[in-house]
Amino acid sequence: MGTVIYGSELSAELKEEIRQEISWYTSRGRRAPKLAVILVGNNPASLSYIKGKKKAAEQVGIDLEVTHLSEDASQDELEAHIRICNEDPDTDGILIQLPLPKGLDDDRAVALVDPEKDVDGLHPVNVGRLHLGLPGHVPCTPQGIMKILERMGCDPDGKTAVVVGRSRLVGAPVARLLQNANATVTVCHSHTKNLKEICRSADILVAAIGKPEYITAEYVKEGAYVVDVGVNRKEDGHLCGDVDFEAVKDIACAITPVPKGVGPMTICSLMQNTLNAYRRKI
Ligand code: NAP
Repeated sequence: MGTVIYGSELSAELKEEIRQEISWYTSRGRRAPKLAVILVGNNPASLSYIKGKKKAAEQVGIDLEVTHLSEDASQDELEAHIRICNEDPDTDGILIQLPLPKGLDDDRAVALVDPEKDVDGLHPVNVGRLHLGLPGHVPCTPQGIMKILERMGCDPDGKTAVVVGRSRLVGAPVARLLQNANATVTVCHSHTKNLKEICRSADILVAAIGKPEYITAEYVKEGAYVVDVGVNRKEDGHLCGDVDFEAVKDIACAITPVPKGVGPMTICSLMQNTLNAYRRKI
């Protein structure tokens, strides 16, 4: 059986390092880093994600402030709040909890955030920086995936990587990070033919599809590093990933579970990005 890499354990270690660094600053009289989260409406998933972010921020010593706008908030109202956060000298990071309710424009809102405070890494300037291989805020889930690969002992240099999924949030940026790390990358999506064969060629397989246990043992090369990003709810109410964990764990060299895999690393990367923004400012 391959090694099971728990993002929950790795993120606890990394959060402790973040906590220590923040405490070093605050014990010398500096203010704590501040993350402004803007939530519009009452999407239950968004509320639950924000709860997780609040808990992590408390653990590491980041001051997380949520502005909760009503479901019927206008684009102007939302943008006014973004401007306030952009201009506040004590706000280091800004996160707009996506998706926004219908009628609001996600892209316009994200593009209004000061790129230096865009700790989600979704602003076009940061997307551009990532694609040019320049320093900038890197989206949280892809950054967490790279940390997981490192913990697996996997150096992407010279390896064949297959990313299933091409979303802006996960698939596209993780493919770019893998390429920047000198992997030879193939990006697959819903129009890809011969997905099974392509996946079977991968030394590194990242599944970011959103389909329960879609990647079965037949998709995985013996000894591959498998990172499962998917979070899906099964009919029995349990969470599962995009990978059939039970079948694939015996083939993979290392694999992440769901839950306790990539998810905790996403929040940890948000804390890291906020600390990076704070460090640059002070
Ligand atoms: P998304 O925007 O819906 O993208 C899904 C991608 O999968 C698309 O590129 C789509 O192709 C591709 N796809 C769909 N069916 C496919 C198939 N049969 N064969 C090959 N490719 C297929 O989703 P996302 O935001 O990237 O998220 C993906 C999964 O990761 C979801 O389960 C989500 O909940 C989870 N997630 C987890 C975290 C975390 O922190 N753990 C963070 C973000 C997302 P097309 O482009 O052609 O439509």
